[in-house]
Amino acid sequence: MSSQTKPTPESMRHHWLAFTSNRRFHQSPRLVSKAEGLFYHTPDGHKLYDSLSGLWCSPLGHGNQAIKEAITGQLDELDYAPAFNVSHPKAFELSEKLAALAPGDLDHVLYCSSGSEAADTALKLARAYWRAKGKPEKSKFIGRAKGYHGVNFGGISVGGIGPNRKSYGQTLDAYHLPHTWLAENAFSRGLPTEGDHLADALNQILEVQDASNIAAVIVEPMAGSGGVIIPSAGYLKRLRELCDKHDILLIFDEVITGFGRMGEVFGADYFNVQPDILTCAKALTNGVVPMGAVITSQEIYQTMMDQPGDEYSIEFMHGYTYSAHPLACAAALASIEQIANPAMMEQVRGLSELFENAIHDLRGLPLVEDIRNIGLAGAVQIEMDPAHPLKRASDISARCWEKGVYVRFGGNNLSFAPPFISQPQDIHEIFARVAEAITEYA
Ligand code: PLP
Repeated sequence: MSSQTKPTPESMRHHWLAFTSNRRFHQSPRLVSKAEGLFYHTPDGHKLYDSLSGLWCSPLGHGNQAIKEAITGQLDELDYAPAFNVSHPKAFELSEKLAALAPGDLDHVLYCSSGSEAADTALKLARAYWRAKGKPEKSKFIGRAKGYHGVNFGGISVGGIGPNRKSYGQTLDAYHLPHTWLAENAFSRGLPTEGDHLADALNQILEVQDASNIAAVIVEPMAGSGGVIIPSAGYLKRLRELCDKHDILLIFDEVITGFGRMGEVFGADYFNVQPDILTCAKALTNGVVPMGAVITSQEIYQTMMDQPGDEYSIEFMHGYTYSAHPLACAAALASIEQIANPAMMEQVRGLSELFENAIHDLRGLPLVEDIRNIGLAGAVQIEMDPAHPLKRASDISARCWEKGVYVRFGGNNLSFAPPFISQPQDIHEIFARVAEAITEYA
């Protein structure tokens, strides 16, 4: 099928779309064949605002020239390097940059190709660390309800979205903190006021499981895919204190919050809380080449390096063919250069204020039962139809598409994370069209 032709049932038969109702898709396929800046274009000439920066991954918008040049330059120089026992200059350059950007002593970087792989790498590292410390019984994990850590077995075990787990049988031993959505915080602007106490639920889990069996707690600084569910200001600090008290590692999954989404390079910076391990992906390369990274503390790295054994033994039996892929490293260096600087963070913070007002202007529309926002991320929660719980958000998203806005829905939430290069009028335009879509649908 060329980029100009309309899909036919025959031409769509072989592609099984990810996280998609394929039956519905086949009835009304949505294709994009071109992207530039803030917009996607369909093969039949429809132009759409990209209101989620792809899947939260393209904050610099589409077709970024510096990234394009970095990738093509890299392709001319070194298209692939073996990831095991061999490396290449850009892998070291990128690691140095990430270590400098990551908070505190998060100084050592392992690579993979996605957020899911980053989550599973982090969980394996946590277990391996405790084994290296002589405490192999510390092997269980604690995640959080509504948390999302990708789709691999580790990630779904600690993940807290029921439908993502229910078909897959036995998972890792994992327990879950309660989510941080509270009815009394509905329509909060930015950080909600209530909820620090929710971190104390860790004590109840430990009462039953005992800290001596727990390797790590893993949370997103704010739950992105679960519907931009934001903890109160002191929640993560409290969680950090409890993890320290009980000798449990704290992992931040920053696949969405990493690289500026909250107006600071990392969510850890925003909340001023340092995890022991931080995972990132998505915006690391502006979504242009798949890449994930796991950034770990000096203590974890050194413990792994200090394991007894032959000098030539492998300290961490883990890695991927595409770990630190040269094209991904080149894309990441060019992305970070543009994203992780004070001027861009200032721009995000400036736009965030306007974004907050624009998204909260939807309050009072029919079916809108909550609105949440932090930095340049937000969600509009749609009242569920009890007979068809997920239908309304999906239908509204389809209507937004007709109105020229690509809007992601997940459960009963519409999620928004516009590119950092948006202008104020773009943000206004996006929400004006979404308001129309909701009103007409209701
Ligand atoms: N972790 C978080 C917090 C995410 O939001 C996502 C994806 O949305 C993932 C992990 C999984 O990333 P990927 O889809 O690249 O495997």
